[in-house]
Amino acid sequence: MTNNGKRSGEEVIENNNTSTNEEVATKKLKTEEATLNLTKIEKLDIVKKELDVKSWDTSKVSLPELITSLLDKTDRDAFFVADIAVIIRQYLKWKKNLPNVTPFYAVKCNPTIGILKVLDALGTSYDCASRTEIETVLNLGVDPTRIIYANPCKQISAIKFARAHNVKLMTFDNVSELEKIEKFFPEAELVLRIAPDDSKSLMRFGTKFGVHIDDCYDLLEMAKEMNLKVVGVSFHVGSGCFDSIAYDSALKMVKSVFEMAKKLDMTLTLVDVGGGFSGSNDEMFEKFTTVIREKTAELFDSNVRIIAEPGRYFAAQSHTLAVTVISKRIIKQEDNRQHPRRTSNNMRQYNYYLADGVYGSFNNIQFDHAKPTPMLLKPSNKQPTPCTLFGPTCDSIDVIARDTQIPELKIGDWLYFPDMGAYTTASASSFNGFCPPPVYYYNSISDEELNNL
Ligand SMILES: *Cc1c(COP(=O)(O)O)cnc(C)c1O
Repeated sequence: MTNNGKRSGEEVIENNNTSTNEEVATKKLKTEEATLNLTKIEKLDIVKKELDVKSWDTSKVSLPELITSLLDKTDRDAFFVADIAVIIRQYLKWKKNLPNVTPFYAVKCNPTIGILKVLDALGTSYDCASRTEIETVLNLGVDPTRIIYANPCKQISAIKFARAHNVKLMTFDNVSELEKIEKFFPEAELVLRIAPDDSKSLMRFGTKFGVHIDDCYDLLEMAKEMNLKVVGVSFHVGSGCFDSIAYDSALKMVKSVFEMAKKLDMTLTLVDVGGGFSGSNDEMFEKFTTVIREKTAELFDSNVRIIAEPGRYFAAQSHTLAVTVISKRIIKQEDNRQHPRRTSNNMRQYNYYLADGVYGSFNNIQFDHAKPTPMLLKPSNKQPTPCTLFGPTCDSIDVIARDTQIPELKIGDWLYFPDMGAYTTASASSFNGFCPPPVYYYNSISDEELNNL
């Protein structure tokens, strides 16, 4: 089992210490040559070997059974089970619903090397927001044209890095960004990020990123005066978007920017519809993609390239987190001031302390509005009792679920939480010395499904 618990960024830094840029470039060339003529299935086979991916027949072994079988083999108190089949199926669904839209996976959502490699085998591109993310993706042997540097506010050192590695496609949304790019990367291919109406999203970006439609003309004109090459327009409706109207109105806005550019004798050829696609709600995905398919066909010429930046869409359901109960406190109702009278045992409440918490994988509760669902690894015939699930750190803010109902647990019992692939490990800290859990890779896809690739 791979069990290094390392973040991909750390691995990249190590690589850089031991090999020169030239060596990296040669290695990359060789990898590219070797993989150029392989089919997606052959590339996936290589990735499976590299990641030590085990086959998983879900008709014979359930998810709880699979997790149970791992308990003997690991000494960890929390670990992820990742099923690469989820990523492959999401890719197939993407191809079916958005055949003309190239997905650039938003690396920030989960930069685990497993997800990046599987997506590379499938041939997707990448949305990177920092030097380290670009470096991680380039080190996989990915061609720089398959990267968009989609952070509108870039560090100069990272712009220089992008130039040195020929990562040309990048977003911008303000004047000072244009000035930096003019000075440090004048050949860059620029994508103007506009601010769509994101009132229909849980996580809104409008106040931080994106130029208001009224300021687009001036910004385009300025880019022209600086001899910079603007190639397209992007938007991000915000994550957790719940209304397809958001795409409809954003695409109309993009169209009006295309018209402005035309007035300035600039030809735009790229539309970037951003991310925010649900990884678990198929109905919503189909609604959004129908709007994107129809609107892009209606508004733009067929030579306009359409791309997107899905993150959670690929990652969310790929990871399940298994976590053990490390401590437990019984709270009798008399401790609760609202119910001062003595109560019987079946009115007890419990505090459970789990081996991972909001400073670790459950940071999605704070940062991503997530509500992870605890599942019992072993079925219980006990009645659910009121309880609160805490994380392992010494901070009282470290709460995974307050006032929930679970059958009584013992120390050493295991819970598992599905849908823990997006914005979990990516933004986890090792606060208090509790390190992110390792990932064990599985593949439950059948050969028949793979034939659709
Ligand atoms: C975070 C982000 C994404 C990905 O969002 P998801 O909700 O994970 O799809 C895409 N594009 C940009 C610019 C982002 O900041």
